[in-house]
Amino acid sequence: MKISYKAVTDVGRRRKGNEDSVHANPDHRLFVVADGMGGHAAGEVASRVAVEAVDEFIRLTAGDRDITWPFEFDENLSHDGNRLQAAIRFANQRVLDTTATQAEYEGMATTVVAVLGGEADTVHLAHVGDSRIYLLRGGTLRQLTSDHSWVNEQILSGVISPDQARTHPLRNVVTRALGSRTELLVDLQTVTVEPNDVLLLCTDGLTTMLTDDELQEHLCADLPDVDKASAHLVELANERGGEDNITVLLVQFTS
Ligand code: CA
Repeated sequence: MKISYKAVTDVGRRRKGNEDSVHANPDHRLFVVADGMGGHAAGEVASRVAVEAVDEFIRLTAGDRDITWPFEFDENLSHDGNRLQAAIRFANQRVLDTTATQAEYEGMATTVVAVLGGEADTVHLAHVGDSRIYLLRGGTLRQLTSDHSWVNEQILSGVISPDQARTHPLRNVVTRALGSRTELLVDLQTVTVEPNDVLLLCTDGLTTMLTDDELQEHLCADLPDVDKASAHLVELANERGGEDNITVLLVQFTS
């Protein structure tokens, strides 16, 4: 399957700096988005350190299968699934190490979503936090990740509705992030992609400004032009107020 992609990140209309980081490494079929948190530009550092560490680990483990593995090998995951899980844990450790050596970064953390191409037509997905991965297939957009956020926990236990969550004062509280603790639980899944599938990786600066129905409508109208579709989504999020940094990464598969 051939891959075309487009990554766009934008500061938005309200924030001074952009704490999101986006990274594409098509040679390794790796795509990563991270949304950093922390004062004094620490959020920018956290997200950048994380995406660079994920990329580094994937490159290091691309050829030689006999390298020393820094984490327990998960028998339930494929080799590439293990590489991706370990890459996220490696990134978590890198963020923690950066915090430990530089006092001004204390308390910084970051979300991460990542896609790694696997054997045959599989792709491995990993996520921590409230950044998301969606799949557009046959004109229907489906969210593949489940936010690690306080409001999503409330939705899942039936306490509040998705509509209430959109405006809830605690909507920005994430319950899992890189940089919080040494032990990190990473959500992983494997998807078999089909021709014309498109994956959307994004931060909450997009999904708090646009509903899933709107994302679907505009993606369907603009694709297969990934350049146009990604720029358009960012533009729409800004038109709605651009209250946070906005990152859109589209990955399109064709036969
Ligand atoms: Ca954000």
